[in-house]
Amino acid sequence: VVIGVLSSKNPAERRTPMVPDVAKKLRAQGAEIVMQRGAGAGAYLSEADFPDVQWVDTADEVLARADMLWTVSPPDEATLAQLRPGSTVLGLLAPYGSADRARELAQKNITAFAMELLPRISRAQSMDILSSQGAAAGYQCVLIAAAFCPKFFPMLTYAAGTIRPARVLVIGAGVAGLQAIATAKRLGAMVEGYDVRPETKEQVESLGAKFVDTGVSAAGTGGYARELTEEEKAQQAVKLGKAIAQADVLITTAAVPGKRAPLIVTDEMVRGMKPGAVVVDMAAETGGNVAGTLPNQDVWVGGVRIIGPVNLPSNMPVHASEMFSKNLFNFISPFIKDGALVLDDTDEVLTGATLTANGEVKHPGVKQALG
Ligand code: NAD
Repeated sequence: VVIGVLSSKNPAERRTPMVPDVAKKLRAQGAEIVMQRGAGAGAYLSEADFPDVQWVDTADEVLARADMLWTVSPPDEATLAQLRPGSTVLGLLAPYGSADRARELAQKNITAFAMELLPRISRAQSMDILSSQGAAAGYQCVLIAAAFCPKFFPMLTYAAGTIRPARVLVIGAGVAGLQAIATAKRLGAMVEGYDVRPETKEQVESLGAKFVDTGVSAAGTGGYARELTEEEKAQQAVKLGKAIAQADVLITTAAVPGKRAPLIVTDEMVRGMKPGAVVVDMAAETGGNVAGTLPNQDVWVGGVRIIGPVNLPSNMPVHASEMFSKNLFNFISPFIKDGALVLDDTDEVLTGATLTANGEVKHPGVKQALG
């Protein structure tokens, strides 16, 4: 099997799906790797770092040879058009993002594995790109907030007295939120966490943060949350409103797969926050958890700064790429035998992550969502 990697056309995407260690292991399994000059540069990797890779100048050359394309983001129109019929694509493919893209992948008989669809089961943890990149994003959120917060995060004793620690509230305690809580704790803040899945209470508390109990529980399927009813939203708003009003920093990470991010923090709640408070809305790209958030912008609502970062893992491309690449390797390497790709359609993890195969959109949830 020939594995292809393109260089990023988007300067804001600095991650690469292939790192030298993984290339070496793939070579040992008999795979060939073809990369476009410039791939990896965003993560400070040069051609000399990849002794196991063949380098070519253009995307055309990669796509003409690749049986399998590894990618950190969905292929654009031009790349889609050039993918070889019958080939395989593997990476983050934003499966719910575009019905046209899914249809085109199917029409071209591409086997597309969207790592967003990976089943969240124990065996698949080492392949879980949403988790590895979510951890990077959660960590970054806190650093951004700390940089803009007009207060110290930790308690500080100085010659003239004592500074009280900043109060940080994290809404959404999945992988990113828990990493945000852990990071804010390490910086010494007083941290509170909140989520609608009841099992998160213990996880939040085990990190030394306080859980905000709203009495709303909304566990959905596959370990994810479901959308809240109007009544539940109202109940959540009352309890959360108090915690939000006291926070110096609010970090929101709430998501429901395949849906717009839940709007949890209303304009009224933002206006009730302390002047100087900083909000980092990690859900900015999927609509935002906070009223007024704009992706990739800072918005001021009264004295409150709302930051809507996008693609946070790209800000730490070295470790984000390393994790990404290892996750992809763990997913596909069991199916590379003597250099050939031998897929097994009885494998629960492989089939779970299949967006398209055999000319069809396979994933039932995506099929339904895209209509
Ligand atoms: P996610 O990114 O889909 O959502 C982030 C968080 O937002 C979730 O914790 C969700 O419960 C929460 N949320 C949704 N609606 C909300 C609302 N209205 N108010 C407050 N919070 C809301 O989730 P994720 O971080 O990708 O993880 C989802 C689950 O999968 C977690 O339980 C995680 O531990 C689990 N998981 C399991 C494995 C595994 O076993 N292989 C791997 C990774 C994650």
